[in-house]
Amino acid sequence: MARRGSYRDRAVVVRTYDFAEADRVVVLLTREHGVVRAVARGVRRAKSRFGSRVQLFVDLDVLLYPGANLATLSGADTVHFYGSGIIEDYERYTAACAILEIAEGLAHADPDPRLYEAVVDALARMQHSPEPVLELDAFALTVMRVSGWAPQLFACAQCNAPGPHHSFHPASGGAVCSHCRPPGSFDVDPEVLHLMWLLSEGHRGMVLGAARAHPEYLHQIHRLTVSHLRWHAEVRLPSLAIFDRG
Ligand SMILES: [Zn+2]
Repeated sequence: MARRGSYRDRAVVVRTYDFAEADRVVVLLTREHGVVRAVARGVRRAKSRFGSRVQLFVDLDVLLYPGANLATLSGADTVHFYGSGIIEDYERYTAACAILEIAEGLAHADPDPRLYEAVVDALARMQHSPEPVLELDAFALTVMRVSGWAPQLFACAQCNAPGPHHSFHPASGGAVCSHCRPPGSFDVDPEVLHLMWLLSEGHRGMVLGAARAHPEYLHQIHRLTVSHLRWHAEVRLPSLAIFDRG
């Protein structure tokens, strides 16, 4: 029975931490209400009514009751568990954790159902992904576009001169021409920017094919994507540090 003021939503668990004796705070990225921090009371007791449902990588149908600081999780039904294929694979697990961190970090603005949908989509793909870091980059490029600050990948971000260009500068907004190129820009192979564009459009297969022939492209795609994300999101993304390979 729903209490007055309570509401239902879909939500992915992005983080949990223990609270009081038997409770846990669950940080949820909801579809319609952005990030919601909710207490799951008694969840750590053996006979909790939540069972093991409240965990990372699960998509839930939740019943929430708003509170001053923390909402209360009144009900949670599993819609889908995406953990299999992820939790037993270190690279997928770390990339999936980074996806959740990015989602939480970007969710502070107006709630946008597209963010929730991008997370669910990315977790589903991650379960079988042959290139977890590329899947993470595809997610980051997608949500940057949703947020309105996707990198420019063809025309110069400063003067709009058509590309392809050989430099990338996150603070300028992405690709930059040789005239606008500020100090500290990355030197890039224009093919890498083209692959990032394909990735942001959902063409993973083409990107994977190119990356098999040129494995260094994967590293460059990740470096540029993360640099752009870090510059514009201003959020701490500890899981991403695992993939920083110089
Ligand atoms: Zn320019």
